[in-house]
Amino acid sequence: MSSVETRLAELRKEINFHLYRYHTLDDPIISDAEYDRLINELRRLEEKHPELITPDSPTQRVGAEPLEGFEKVTHPIPMTSLGNAFDDDDMHNWLARIERLLPEDITVADLEFVVEPKIDGLAVALTYENGLLVQGATRGNGVEGENVTANVRTIKNIPLRIPTASNGPPPPARIEVRGEVYMPIADFNKFNQEQIAKGEKIYANPRNFAAGSLRQLDSKITAQRPLAFFSYAIGYVEGAAIHTQKEALDYLNGLGFSVNPDTLHTGQFVEAINFIHAWMERRDNLPYDADGAVLKINGFALQEHLGVVGNAPRWAIAYKFPAREATTKVLKIQGNVGRTGQITPYANLEPVNIGGVTVSQATLHNYDDLAKKDIRQGDTVVVKRAGDVIPQVIKPILDLRPPDSQPHQPPARCPVCHEPTAHLGDDVALFCINAACPAQLVRQIEYFVSRGAMDIEGFGIKIGDRLAGEELIKDIADIYFLTREQLLALEGFADKKVDNLLDAIEASKKQPFQRFLIGLGIRYVGSAVAGLVADAFPSIDRLIKAGQEELEAIEGVGPRIAESIVEWFSRPANQTLIEKFRRTGVTLEAAGPPVDVDKAQTLTGLTFVITGTLPTWSREEAKAFIQQHGGKVTGSVSKKTDYLVAGEKAGSKLSKAQALGVLVLDENGLRELASGG
Ligand SMILES: [Zn+2]
Repeated sequence: MSSVETRLAELRKEINFHLYRYHTLDDPIISDAEYDRLINELRRLEEKHPELITPDSPTQRVGAEPLEGFEKVTHPIPMTSLGNAFDDDDMHNWLARIERLLPEDITVADLEFVVEPKIDGLAVALTYENGLLVQGATRGNGVEGENVTANVRTIKNIPLRIPTASNGPPPPARIEVRGEVYMPIADFNKFNQEQIAKGEKIYANPRNFAAGSLRQLDSKITAQRPLAFFSYAIGYVEGAAIHTQKEALDYLNGLGFSVNPDTLHTGQFVEAINFIHAWMERRDNLPYDADGAVLKINGFALQEHLGVVGNAPRWAIAYKFPAREATTKVLKIQGNVGRTGQITPYANLEPVNIGGVTVSQATLHNYDDLAKKDIRQGDTVVVKRAGDVIPQVIKPILDLRPPDSQPHQPPARCPVCHEPTAHLGDDVALFCINAACPAQLVRQIEYFVSRGAMDIEGFGIKIGDRLAGEELIKDIADIYFLTREQLLALEGFADKKVDNLLDAIEASKKQPFQRFLIGLGIRYVGSAVAGLVADAFPSIDRLIKAGQEELEAIEGVGPRIAESIVEWFSRPANQTLIEKFRRTGVTLEAAGPPVDVDKAQTLTGLTFVITGTLPTWSREEAKAFIQQHGGKVTGSVSKKTDYLVAGEKAGSKLSKAQALGVLVLDENGLRELASGG
C-alpha cells in the first residue's frame, strides 16, 4: 500500500468513527472545525487520486449520478409483513394461538418477549460484505424491492463500513441488517418551515416525505433530506452466531448501528402489554412518528418452530396505535372571533373518524397560513389529530381539487358584527376592531370571570352568553352593576343561584390589582406580565400614565408588550371602561407596604433597582424599606434609574449600571441615604 493509500484509509476510518459518534451516539468528541479539517484533507487527496476512491469513503455520502430507474432486488429472505393487533384482546388472542403451537416441553410461562417501537418509516435491508456496505434495498412487495444503495449511503447514521467503533466485534463475512428509514419530526418541521419561507411545497407527514426522499432517482436530493435509520433485525448473517432477538439488537448496536433505546426484553407478557400502553402515552413526545409497537418472541429456534402463516410470521405481532390522520372534504371555511377580536379561520369538515374520534371541525391557524397552504372550500384535505391538540388541516390534495374552486378570501367584515376587519400593525393576524362586537364581549366576559383572572365562582360561559344576549352586560364592568331584580327576572335564575352569583361577584372586588389587569384581556398581558406591571405601577392611575419607555424598563416586559399596553389604554372605549370600573369598587391598586408616616420620606422621587444578595435584607425587605421612605423600585436598570442597590453576585445589572453611570449602593449605603446621609 502506498503512503497515500494508507493516509486515505486512516482518514476514512477516523471520519467514519466521528460520524458515528455524532449521528448514532449523539456524543461527538471533536469540534466541527476539526471534523472539517479531516474531511477537507480527504477530499483533496481523493481529487488528486480519483482511482483510490472507495465506496465506504465518507465523501460518497453526498449522492451519486442520477439513475434512469431503480434496479430490482430479490430479497434472499422475504421481508414479511406483520399481523396486527388493535387492542389488548387481540394481543391475548395472539398469545393463545401461539400457546397451541408451542413444542411440548415449553409453556407460555417460559416465553421471552422483546417489544420494540414501530417507527412510521420505510423498511430497508442493508447488505454488508466483510464489513462494507454493498447494497441497500427497499422492502417493495416483500419478495422484490428496489436497489437504493446510492440513497442509503447518504443517510448519516447508516455505517458505510462496520464495525464503526474500534472496539466493535469483527465484521461478519456477510450480514443483512433490516431497519426503518425515517425522518425525525424536528427535522421534518424545520424542512417544511424552510419550504414555506421559499414559497415552495410543504409535505404532509414525515413518513411519506421519508419514503419520497429515499426513492429519489437523484441521490444528491436524498443527501439533502434529513433521513435517519434505526435497525431492528438481522435478515441473515454468515460468520457470527446469534440466537435471540435481544442478542441481535445488542450485536447490531456493537457494530455501530442505531438501535432504538426504547426496547423491552421481558419474560412477562403482561409487562410487555403495560410497556406498550406506557409507550403509547408518550407517543406525542417522541422525536419520531410511531404507529405502534412490535412484540416478538425472543428465541430464534422458537421463531423458526412457529414459522410463517401466509405472509406474516406467527412469532411477532404489531400492536397498532390509533390513526392520527385522515382525509376528508372541506365543506366550508369560517372565521371565529376571539376575545381580542382576532379572527381565526377554521374548516367545517365532512365528519371523519380519526383514531376513534369523529372530527367535523379543524383549525386553519391564521389567514396567512391558510393562504400559503392554499386550502379552499371543496378541497379534499389531510386532517391531523394528535393527543389533546385541536385537529388541524395539514394540506389540500391538489389532484382532487374541483375545477371551479377559488382561493379563500379573508373576510372583509367580522362574521359576527359585520363591521370591517383590519390588520393591526404588522401583525399577520386579522382582527375585528369593533370594541362592541358581541362575539368579543362574550369571550371577554368568559376571560374576565375565569379562574386565572377575577375568579368569579359559578359564573360560567353559559351565564356570560345569556347575560350578554339579554343585554344586561354590554361591557365587562357591567358585571358589577347587575341587580338582584334583573337576575331574578330571568328564566332559570332562582333565589339561591342569584344570591350565590352576586356574592361571588362581590367577593371578586377584593381580588388583587394584578388579577384585574389580567382580566382586562390586554394582548400579551397574562399572569406573569400582569405581576411585573403591577409591581412597577401599583395603581391604575400610575399605569395609565406610564409611557412605552417606562413600561419597557420593567424587566421581562419587551417592546411588543409595552406597545400593546399603551395602545390598549389609548383607546377611548377602554378609557370609558376604566372610568366605569372606578365606580364598581374593584381593587384598582396594589396593596403594597403602606407608606409609614413615621418614616421620613427621604427617598421620594428616586428610582431604585435591587440586585444580587444583600447581607441582611432579602430583596423584598429592601424593596419595602425603599417604598416606606417614598422611593420607587423597578426591575431593570435604565437611564432613569437613580441608584442600583447591589449585593453579592450582582451580575449583568451591575455592569449595565456602571455602563450607564448609575450610582451603586450597598445595603449600608441605602440606609445612610434614607437617613439623609
Ligand atoms: Zn365583530
